[in-house]
Amino acid sequence: MSAQPAPLVRLVCVDDNEDERTLVRRKLARAYPQLQFVEALDEKEFHNALDQGAADLVITDYQLRWSDGLKVLDAVKQRYADCVVIMFTGTGTQEIAVEAMKHGLDDYLLKAPAHFVRLPAVVASALDRRHERIAKRQAEEDRSRIQQELLESREWLSTTLRSIGEAVVATDNQGRIRFMNPAAERLTGFKQEEAFGRDVDSILRLLSDSGEPVTPSPAKRALAARSPTDDDGNYLLVTKSGARVPIVDGACPIKNPRGEVAGVVIAVRDMTDRKRIQNELVRSNEELMQFAYTASHDLKEPLRSVTACTQLLERSLEGKLDQEQKKILNYINEGGAKMGALVEGLLDLGRVSGEHALLTFPAAESVEEAIAALSAYIVERKATVTYDSLPVVTADREQLVSVFQNLISNGIKYQRGNAPEVRITAERRQPDHVFCVADNGIGIAPRYHDEVFRIFSRLHPKQYRGTGIGLATTKRIIERHGGSIWLASEEGQGARFFFSLPIRAKQGESRTVGAHGWGR
Ligand code: ADP
Repeated sequence: MSAQPAPLVRLVCVDDNEDERTLVRRKLARAYPQLQFVEALDEKEFHNALDQGAADLVITDYQLRWSDGLKVLDAVKQRYADCVVIMFTGTGTQEIAVEAMKHGLDDYLLKAPAHFVRLPAVVASALDRRHERIAKRQAEEDRSRIQQELLESREWLSTTLRSIGEAVVATDNQGRIRFMNPAAERLTGFKQEEAFGRDVDSILRLLSDSGEPVTPSPAKRALAARSPTDDDGNYLLVTKSGARVPIVDGACPIKNPRGEVAGVVIAVRDMTDRKRIQNELVRSNEELMQFAYTASHDLKEPLRSVTACTQLLERSLEGKLDQEQKKILNYINEGGAKMGALVEGLLDLGRVSGEHALLTFPAAESVEEAIAALSAYIVERKATVTYDSLPVVTADREQLVSVFQNLISNGIKYQRGNAPEVRITAERRQPDHVFCVADNGIGIAPRYHDEVFRIFSRLHPKQYRGTGIGLATTKRIIERHGGSIWLASEEGQGARFFFSLPIRAKQGESRTVGAHGWGR
């Protein structure tokens, strides 16, 4: 490939003979209209010329009064390795010029009129060679830079993958293992060498919670769908030694620059510690609940005595008490009633932890039971409670009544002037039934939507009576049924409490669930 001459050629002509310099200039000016011609008569001018900027081309005489062409060549090449140097030689110095070519001289020309004619062609071909040389060197530099960058990024990636605690496995587009980091080797029990080339499902053997093999595996799903698995799944990993380790697994396809799937990368997190901590947390929560339950239970008896004795006192002193003494007795009665409500609330909360029987029955029956239990309150508050057609559910019957009772009574209680209206509806949102208990009361500002479910949390302790235990109990019941509870409300615009119950059991099914409930 022949490169075009550079648009601007800076030429330094080193010659102490003025006629020859003029001749060179004339000869080249026509071929190179953009020639910047710098003349150097002596050593000082020569060095000045080099100092003033990079030269593309130096044409030098061999025989100089102040030096010789070889020294000029060395000086030029030392400063500007890419500069083209052409030397004029007399017949006697031709051998020297040939020798100089081994030192980097690009070409030489005999000092004779016949040879001067060839000067533009000699320059053109020397400049071409220079361009080729520069392009080749740049390409080499680029290649070695890219190689270096590639090596560095590979090193960076492999160090990262090696040092992260998460197990990482990568496969080719057929799902055959290509890479395992040390964490993956430790987790699975397989070394990368023995796993290499094997099907990913034979190394990452996954089981569901119920012990069923997971097919297709997340890796195969990501490969087939050409997209990451939607969410990280909880599985049991069967290790090389047959142990079962709880893990979370997510897979993502690796695509090449053309967008084709080249493989899949799987990240696996060992959940053993988290599971253990979770279990410990559940256990200590249960213990706390048990403690609260026992304490509340033990408080019941002395509380009953206090209330009974106060009433006895009140009766025996009837007519003898002044206003102030009556007020004090009233305080005692009110305190006793409040404490009684708290104790009952805590006992209800504690009961949620015990075993409960699952039955399949129409949810409307629990709503009716709740309404019956609240009938006096409904009449007193002139409230209307309505419900739509509700589904058949599988739940602990008594606890579901308690859920509706809490939500309906709150809907009636948290009002300001309105005749209370509470409406219960339900819809099917696979895999759940979602119930809604809506009221036309004071509503709850969004910033309190989580807080209200915390035990003893009360937003209006002065205006409304209560214990702050009802919603905490309701949440606990729902969660132990594998559902969740949330609300939608704005201050002053009524509240809608939603809760979900998994559609899990067939009609008529009945079973008993232990203290830890059942997961989804
Ligand atoms: P309690 O009603 O005994 O105070 P809950 O646990 O049932 O306790 O409710 C906690 C708090 O949530 C209540 O004190 C009240 O401030 C708020 N709240 C509950 N239900 C409603 C509702 N339907 N409308 C407005 N606020 C409510």
